Amino acid sequence: MTSLIGLSSKELERKAAQIRRDLVAVSLRNGAGHIAPSLSCVDILVALYYRIMNRNGDPSWQDRDRFVFSKAHGCYGLYVVLADIGSVERSDWEGFYAGSPLKGCCEMDINRGVEVGCGALGHGLPMAVGMAFGAKLRRVPWRVYVLVGDGEMQEGSNWEAIQFAVKHRLSNLTLIIDANGLQAMDSLENIMTVEGRKGDLQKKLRAFGMEVRTCNGHSARSIVKAIERWTKKEDLSSPQALVARTVKGYGLLCMENIPKFHFRLPTDEEMEMGNRYDGTCVEL
Ligand SMILES: [Mg+2]
Repeated sequence: MTSLIGLSSKELERKAAQIRRDLVAVSLRNGAGHIAPSLSCVDILVALYYRIMNRNGDPSWQDRDRFVFSKAHGCYGLYVVLADIGSVERSDWEGFYAGSPLKGCCEMDINRGVEVGCGALGHGLPMAVGMAFGAKLRRVPWRVYVLVGDGEMQEGSNWEAIQFAVKHRLSNLTLIIDANGLQAMDSLENIMTVEGRKGDLQKKLRAFGMEVRTCNGHSARSIVKAIERWTKKEDLSSPQALVARTVKGYGLLCMENIPKFHFRLPTDEEMEMGNRYDGTCVEL
């Protein structure tokens, strides 16, 4: 077994660029449409799998940190990562949307490294809370990381789960929010957030009792620093929430922050606008 932990920030950036290139190439070839929500969280996935989480080459290793991918329509990047580390067969990833067993939303498959099935939004965090509570009761050392979308945080089930996590001091739980400012085909502000109050999510999380930080969700250094400041703390007593500011469609210039690309493939002409596969990081 090979430990996957320990890539430097520079190596993480190169890995994220490789994952993006692969994600886009296979998705375009096979006609898989949720490219934009997948691209916004690639840097977060790479930071977790290649640096932060305690995992090895065995996806069913008992002591592994658990990862719950709640915004499951954007799971393409997770599949590329799992193929890259060997949990998913390369041919299964390359056959995605073309007869492969991998689904458009994650389906639970421990042997392939998918901890739980998600897709109906607002369910991943409650499941992650249950897992973290179970770990605490059994006094086992692994941690639970859960990734949700910012639009998904409108689901009431998340806030019930947070109340439980805070009440039971689940310090082994880290919630990461892919805060790209869009949900489905519009902006959060148009749909649910009151105009001019974008920072309300952080305030709500703090009011519920979570430890809260924000970071640039496309900067490996920023993501790792925010999470490691928690995990290296010995007296951590609360669940944590990291609001990672991201850009939907990050990496393909034609797609970045454009709502219509939620589930739409770019044309050849649009692809000519170029990409950020070189690992260029925007200020967020
Ligand atoms: Mg969003």
